[in-house]
Amino acid sequence: MTGSILLKGGNIVTDSYKGEGDILVRDGKVVGILPHLIAPDGVETVDVSGLTVVPAFADIHVHFREPGFTAKENIRTGSMAAARGGYTVVCAMPNLDPVPDSPGTLAVEQAAIDRDAVIDVLPYCSITKGRKGLELVDFKALKDKCIAFSDDGSGVQSEEMMRSAMQAAAREGVILAAHCEDNALLRGGYIHDGRYCAQHGHKGICSESEWGQIERDLKLCEETGCRYHVCHISTKESVALIRDAKKRGVNVTCETGPHYLVLCEDDLQEDGRFKMNPPLRGAEDREALVEGLLDGTIDAIATDHAPHSAEEKSRGLAHSAMGIVGLETSFPVLYTALVRTGRLSLGRLIELMSTSPRHIFRLGGGSLAPGMSADLAIIDLNKEYTIDSRTFLSMGKATPFDGWKVRGEVVMTLRGGKAVYNNLTK
Ligand SMILES: [Zn+2]
Repeated sequence: MTGSILLKGGNIVTDSYKGEGDILVRDGKVVGILPHLIAPDGVETVDVSGLTVVPAFADIHVHFREPGFTAKENIRTGSMAAARGGYTVVCAMPNLDPVPDSPGTLAVEQAAIDRDAVIDVLPYCSITKGRKGLELVDFKALKDKCIAFSDDGSGVQSEEMMRSAMQAAAREGVILAAHCEDNALLRGGYIHDGRYCAQHGHKGICSESEWGQIERDLKLCEETGCRYHVCHISTKESVALIRDAKKRGVNVTCETGPHYLVLCEDDLQEDGRFKMNPPLRGAEDREALVEGLLDGTIDAIATDHAPHSAEEKSRGLAHSAMGIVGLETSFPVLYTALVRTGRLSLGRLIELMSTSPRHIFRLGGGSLAPGMSADLAIIDLNKEYTIDSRTFLSMGKATPFDGWKVRGEVVMTLRGGKAVYNNLTK
């Protein structure tokens, strides 16, 4: 495929448009959507009748493990998994070795991306050197080379350090993306401190370990005026705090993950594939998060794709590594559990997975307007199948959705009009 293509007879869905039509793509860009086009010379026609065409997804929170942890995943396998999931851009978290905290260490990661990525992979830099929470990175020296700053994997424990980080971020006009977690409240916990935890003799992580730090940061954000983004919110209190802050005009956005929207502690099994950080919370938290999607409190759905080796995930809830994979299951799981049940419109799901994250992180795309890069996902909404992690392109196989019967399969992903994943035409 050359980047010039006519997609014929698709059902087109964006956050603001729904209808049947042909999409003409030339030299990687959308020319227009019209009924009944005939392909001009040199443009290949692909029959997508019966299929749905949407703006390709964007994931602002993934872990691709390279450099440093390539036994879990690498840029090539991670980006191939993303393409299969309908994504053409992802933002990669900096809990790597070396941590991208200087132009030199960032260059190591960027070289791997330049060599191996099959879609756009945009690196985060850390907020503090080595993600240790003690000394700020040089925001000015890094801001043109990374998408945003985050110490993801840990919270910034010191209020003074977070204030300084926000002041620097405000000065440089960059986004701070915070993993909010107060280590003083963890007490060895590893699943939600709720009913299941108590009944099965586990150690719990309280909700306040997350929302307490969000509450602190929202005040700092108000004080400093920085662009503040909260990663993977999981508790009902977090939703309420961010909802109130937005009403006050605080410059905050946030994301949650598919698993927090469709699972809760009632779904836990004694298996490492149900373990991630933050943990699956209570049913009330799950419902509050869905409400947050509906009323606009939550801006984006990000997978927190966090692969580990089979061995690291084989040690049960207590001893397995934290993290699950998500790029190859996010759309079908959310479509099946939220759209087909009538809780969320398909248009709003596209907004949460594509338009809105692309907008808040200034990634471009997210619409099918003339002149836009042709970044599209083509989906068979009627295809019913069973999720089987053995088929994943990701090296990580641990997912709580293994064995789920879902609908909605991504059959082709186009980046700039070229297929980066193709299960439709060979
Ligand atoms: Zn995190």
